[in-house]
Amino acid sequence: MYRFNFSNIDNTSQYEELIKEFLQPSQYGENGETVLEYDFRGDKNDLKRQIYRDLSRLTGEAPKWGILTGIRPVKLAGELLDSGEDPKKVLMEQYLTDETKADLVCDILEYQRAKAGKPDPMSLSVYIGIPFCPTRCLYCSFTSNQVDQEAMGPYLEALGKEIDFAGEAVKSEGYKLETLYFGGGTPTSLSAEQLDALLNRVKSAFALGSVREYTVEAGRPDTITYEKLQVLQDHGVDRISINPQSMKQNTLDLIGRRHTVEDVYKAFELAGKVGMEVINADLIAGLPEETAEDFAYSLEEIIRLGAENITLHTLAVKRASRLKEMDENFNYKDEELREQMLASAHERLRGCGYVPYYLYRQKHTSGNTENTGFCKGDRPGLYNIRIMEEAQSNLALGAGGISKIYFPEENRLERVANVSNYEVYIDRIDEMIDRKIKGFFGNR
Ligand code: SF4
Repeated sequence: MYRFNFSNIDNTSQYEELIKEFLQPSQYGENGETVLEYDFRGDKNDLKRQIYRDLSRLTGEAPKWGILTGIRPVKLAGELLDSGEDPKKVLMEQYLTDETKADLVCDILEYQRAKAGKPDPMSLSVYIGIPFCPTRCLYCSFTSNQVDQEAMGPYLEALGKEIDFAGEAVKSEGYKLETLYFGGGTPTSLSAEQLDALLNRVKSAFALGSVREYTVEAGRPDTITYEKLQVLQDHGVDRISINPQSMKQNTLDLIGRRHTVEDVYKAFELAGKVGMEVINADLIAGLPEETAEDFAYSLEEIIRLGAENITLHTLAVKRASRLKEMDENFNYKDEELREQMLASAHERLRGCGYVPYYLYRQKHTSGNTENTGFCKGDRPGLYNIRIMEEAQSNLALGAGGISKIYFPEENRLERVANVSNYEVYIDRIDEMIDRKIKGFFGNR
């Protein structure tokens, strides 16, 4: 017998009548809390479905992802398809997802299979982390440090050592690089000279001939200069991110980004000048004090600027963020508004030729929504697809990098983590390399 106490459902609230109709008197707890009891003998999803239906009836709410948890619904749909099932039917009937979500997942799966194919077993994605940003955003939960460029030198030295080692090991194990991704942090926090030296080091360490996509996150527009973009272009980088998050100045000020809307326009202009092939722009639905109109306005501006990739995030306030400290319950406010913002944005993007190409969910996402990447002109972010499929090894270098080694025969991953503190990473670089020798390269 499973017994659940829902002390946060207020029996005296608007649900009172429903609760009375639904529950027997014995199902109220001693302290007046709502108690649901379940006799559970079978499939755990049966129990979840029963609880979902009962709570929906109690509260009048029906979350659109049903009982589906986990970050990667598209991966699940792919596994269902490969085992001969109909993913849409299973998502709706067994996981109780809403048809709009099931359709979105199936559309993305179809696009990925058609455009990216399945990764070669010996292919590899490489991630390189630069854990520095000019300021820390209000909602940030990543590895992001605010130091001047001189202080970044020792980190780049340690990282260079890991890059040299990894390049050798990748070659001798016969891996072929498919995608290369610089993230962080904000890699363009480095100076043009530092970027040039780092990318040269990567070029000498790895064989880059097989690379299908080379991304550098230039997320913060205030870090972008013509010289830096020219360095990236000269090194064959073909995809960058310029992430406004919002095109409303008030919002940018409020979330601590320290750049202007004007900086975003300028960054797009410079990227156009150097001839960057693909620009991704991230927007966040649900930023403090934003209305549906604000979000729609930001999207229009990004479409007008011609971003090839647009990623719609929903604000997820995580434990490590300043916003969580300021407002514990921020996530649970205006949930319907966030769902609305995203639904309109999906419609608008599809209407002007963008297609959804990847999706992931996060814990604590406002309105129980998801993050979706859109692309146009058949230029999706391949790295994003690969990281969500979990069917390829990912070698992550730098502070905070978590490498994943993929075992195709067993369809499973093992993780090898670097420390996330960049100063500890510098001090313990030999140990980070040793971890890779044992856990990544010595493991297949
Ligand atoms: S740009 Fe990204 S990594 Fe840097 S502080 Fe903001 S959210 Fe964090």
